[in-house]
Amino acid sequence: MIKKRLVIIGGGSAGMAAAIKAYELGERDILIIEKNAYLGGILNQCIHNGFGLHEFKEELTGPEFMTRFSKKVEELGIPYRLNSNVLNISNDKVVTYSNSQEGIVEVKADAIILSTGCYERNAGAIQIPGDRPSGVYTAGQAQLFVNCYGYLVGKRVFILGSGDIGLIMARRMTLEGAKVLGVAELMPYSAGLNRNIVQCLKDFNIPLYLSHTVKKVEGLSHLEKVTIAKVDEKMNFIEGTDITFDVDTLLLSVGLLPNVDLFNKLPIRISRTRGAVVNQAMESDIRGIFACGNVLHVHDLVDYVVEEAREAAVGAVQYLNGELKHEGHVYEVNPGNGIGYVVPQIVYIDDVKDKLSFKFRVRKPYKDVDIYIKEGDKVIKKIFKPAIIPSEMEIVKLDKSLFLKEANEISVYVEERK
Ligand SMILES: Cc1cc2nc3c(=O)[nH]c(=O)nc-3n(C[C@H](O)[C@H](O)[C@H](O)COP(=O)(O)OP(=O)(O)OC[C@H]3O[C@@H](n4cnc5c(N)ncnc54)[C@H](O)[C@@H]3O)c2cc1C
Repeated sequence: MIKKRLVIIGGGSAGMAAAIKAYELGERDILIIEKNAYLGGILNQCIHNGFGLHEFKEELTGPEFMTRFSKKVEELGIPYRLNSNVLNISNDKVVTYSNSQEGIVEVKADAIILSTGCYERNAGAIQIPGDRPSGVYTAGQAQLFVNCYGYLVGKRVFILGSGDIGLIMARRMTLEGAKVLGVAELMPYSAGLNRNIVQCLKDFNIPLYLSHTVKKVEGLSHLEKVTIAKVDEKMNFIEGTDITFDVDTLLLSVGLLPNVDLFNKLPIRISRTRGAVVNQAMESDIRGIFACGNVLHVHDLVDYVVEEAREAAVGAVQYLNGELKHEGHVYEVNPGNGIGYVVPQIVYIDDVKDKLSFKFRVRKPYKDVDIYIKEGDKVIKKIFKPAIIPSEMEIVKLDKSLFLKEANEISVYVEERK
């Protein structure tokens, strides 16, 4: 059996950023295992610009952004295996992968970082009513076909869900000559970033139907019609609001789910994010097994994925060097009023070096709102925001010195100013 100090599963932005950071911290015995034939993950198909504004202070395309990381991996000589699918992680950190050259290989790892990204929710997951014709794709699948294989999946398109990938695909399909007839969003607000609403819909006169969803899909072999209707607050269809579109393609942009399959057989708790419960070092319930990027919680910006991957690498190197003690004062972190989730969920404050980040999303849009971080019943931080929306992840960075170590619960909540 091969032995490695640090095995990183998934060679997307998170996996590569974690490997580079671990190397920079002095760790040399690293292996990245990637199931695709290339490093870079999902960014290989995101050929639009807008990446790297935080990380490089420039606007790059997805492939340009990820190439900067893959070049660095090469430059540092960090080993990686491509076309290698990880099949299992055991309790004692044996990672099993397979590929066509080596067959089935077992690697005994001292520490593992899981960075396997996310899945898109598909038609089965949302139980769309009506026929089951071809012509229904997830937005990411369509993006792969158009951007990587040069194949336009349809000419008359409707999009369900206003997530960023759907919005970007509305523009992409239009630029490639398709007619995008509209985007329907179940909620009364968009699930995508404001910049994408403007640049991908408004600039191309593509209508956004808020509080609408698909009521019926029609087509025996291929998709022919999609009917949408307005919903009330209880998500019931409102009579007389049906609109039918003649289309050959329906794209779904209805959410992403962390790809935690490799954690399923392990005694690791899964949180509200659908990723693992982690502590401040991005470490799961099993000591020495870490997670970061979209497998932990779905990020809207790759820059934050990279930042989190570095936190996981710092944690993994601390663990490998015996510096992650899990001793002293411990907090449980809980989402309070208006907050969907918070990462991390556990904090060993004595293991924090100087700053600690809380990442969270609100449940609905707020204006003129205060974000509170409370230890027990004492507010340790209050931040005002003129506006805050669910599609944008919030990050609050706190000095370790703010923590009083008087209670064991931290809560994060919002209150709107009157
Ligand atoms: C379709 C789509 C479009 C997106 N568009 C944008 C955008 O425009 N802008 C933006 O900032 N963000 C975008 N995102 C968000 C994007 O996911 C993040 O920005 C970031 O790239 C995620 O990095 P990651 O490393 O966590 O995941 P990924 O990039 O998905 O990398 C995960 C890697 O793990 C590998 N893997 C999975 N399972 C295994 C296994 N069992 N064994 C071995 N390897 C495995 C995968 O092959 C993949 O290479 C998009 C996401 C999706 C899904």
